[in-house]
Amino acid sequence: MRVVQDRASLAEARDALTGRVAVVMTMGALHEGHASLLAAARAAADAVICTIFVNPLQFGPNEDLDRYPRSLDADLAVCERHGVDVVFTPTEDVIYPYGQPQIRVNPGSLGETLEGASRPGFFHGVLTVVLKLLHLTRPDIAYFGEKDYQQISLVRRMVRDLDVPTEIVAAPTIREADGLALSSRNRYLSPEERAAALTLSRALFAGQEAASEGPAKAAQAAQDVIDAEPRVRPDYLVLTGTDLGPAPQRGEARLLVAARMGRTRLIDNVRVTLRSSEGLNPDEGRDPTSGWSPARS
Ligand code: AMP
Repeated sequence: MRVVQDRASLAEARDALTGRVAVVMTMGALHEGHASLLAAARAAADAVICTIFVNPLQFGPNEDLDRYPRSLDADLAVCERHGVDVVFTPTEDVIYPYGQPQIRVNPGSLGETLEGASRPGFFHGVLTVVLKLLHLTRPDIAYFGEKDYQQISLVRRMVRDLDVPTEIVAAPTIREADGLALSSRNRYLSPEERAAALTLSRALFAGQEAASEGPAKAAQAAQDVIDAEPRVRPDYLVLTGTDLGPAPQRGEARLLVAARMGRTRLIDNVRVTLRSSEGLNPDEGRDPTSGWSPARS
């Protein structure tokens, strides 16, 4: 495994790779969620590049850039265990040699909702660094987690809209045994906050279970679980279509949540299969009023 920090070494290491090359982009503090992406990449491609870079461009002024967990030695051990060929661990100067970039990827209207509404400029920062890392690593295929559902939706659109020759693959969310989605930010949680954080996945699973009764019941079941835990302050809990537009009356949908516990903000989402149309004729198709969102933040 080669560990490279600068552009020239990365280019040289990349040129030495043959066959189909996969990339997994991370901000480090690697856990089993990241490891699952590395394993999927390893299984599908001839060579795997892992990038580790805490991207300052996607952090707002009052966010956790300075305290974001960093554990390079442990991360390299995870990469080694998963047969990664090249690890790219650039500094900020390597990624942004001219300072903060004037030109950034504009995520459009989808980038202004949900995470984009809670974290202005977030997706401009994310897509800009993803595009740069795609240029620098030149992968045939790139793996992203469904844990960040809006992110992978936007990456797919960027690749499509800007003709990036990389296949984007979504990998399922890896969870703790009790349901909590793995996240580097889980390390911040006190035991009490950890207990409260479990409300997020419990709410999503409750919504999933109620999905056979239609979208309103699914959304309400999730909301009831969130409302019962005062230590959780939700930013949003919303049922949408798989494209993050309005939820359909039946069929595939997505239930997404973001919430704060103490100083820590976590996100999670699940796939939901809506089976009933709550008395409506299923042939009527989408109901524009079903883009349900509680006005609570
Ligand atoms: P991050 O280091 O948080 O930027 O995440 C890097 C990649 O790992 C992204 O594609 C995430 O969606 C993915 N990821 C993070 N947490 C999980 C998880 N629990 N399960 C699967 N993938 C994840």
